[in-house]
Amino acid sequence: MTRVVYVNGQYLPYGQAGVHVEDRGFQFADSIYEVCEVDQGRLVDETRHLERLERSLGELRIPMPMSRRALGHVLRETVKRNRVQTGLVYLQISRGAAPRDFPFPTGDIAPTIVCLARRVDGAKRAARAAAGIAVKTMPDIRWGRCDIKTVMLLPAVLAKEAAAADGAQEAWLVDSEGFITEGASSNAWIVDASGTLITRPTGNAILPGVTRRSLFDLLMGEKIPFTERPFRVEEAFSAREAFITSASGTVMPVVAIDGRPIGNGHPGELTRRLRSNFHQAVEFSR
Ligand code: PMP
Repeated sequence: MTRVVYVNGQYLPYGQAGVHVEDRGFQFADSIYEVCEVDQGRLVDETRHLERLERSLGELRIPMPMSRRALGHVLRETVKRNRVQTGLVYLQISRGAAPRDFPFPTGDIAPTIVCLARRVDGAKRAARAAAGIAVKTMPDIRWGRCDIKTVMLLPAVLAKEAAAADGAQEAWLVDSEGFITEGASSNAWIVDASGTLITRPTGNAILPGVTRRSLFDLLMGEKIPFTERPFRVEEAFSAREAFITSASGTVMPVVAIDGRPIGNGHPGELTRRLRSNFHQAVEFSR
């Protein structure tokens, strides 16, 4: 658990931190967030996360509350104060607090900023990666702007809950035409019989994952073929390998979809290689 939380300019003990009851993040999910991996006390891909954060804010017309440089400082300071070596740092910015009304409040309201950092059990995560995870397909019932990283996560909560009830660790969301969009909190990938990686192109239907983007760099560096195109559930069932990418799990093998084993039912060889080499392609900062 995080011990020290950054809220609007102050670092406070977890139990004393709070935000206004009329925060628009709470009432309307009028709020965006980022999650960065922390590896050996270093922030992974700070630049790309802050670029995406600025874009998310811009799409919602929430002003940047401070410079990227200052936000980066908050991220790194929160990691330090919580003495996180292996874990995550979470940054959320809402439009701010105002009497409840749908349109944007008039006048100057200060965005609400919250940052927390927490440790992750590295051994547990490694064990999960060694075994691979199961995913469950679920209809994608989210809105038309999944490219914005908002806290409007109820469809993801429901999908993950249904997956967990089936013993799966992630849900793969399926659009009205039978194509997989992405995971509830990750991007979805498969490997075809020729060894080519396939993942859905960016656009309004998916979040442009930072891990996905950095993995492209690794693939280009290692000359591993990949293509960005939509793929169907049936194609995923017969894939040679499958995996998900996210800041919290980096490259995580998928060994079953809806109870059907993928490949030989164990993490694929290429997936394991990408997982072990992933950090070669990222930016570290402290
Ligand atoms: N898609 C969704 C819906 C997500 O919530 C996430 C994780 N936040 C991702 C993809 C992966 O993005 P990233 O690699 O930047 O963590």
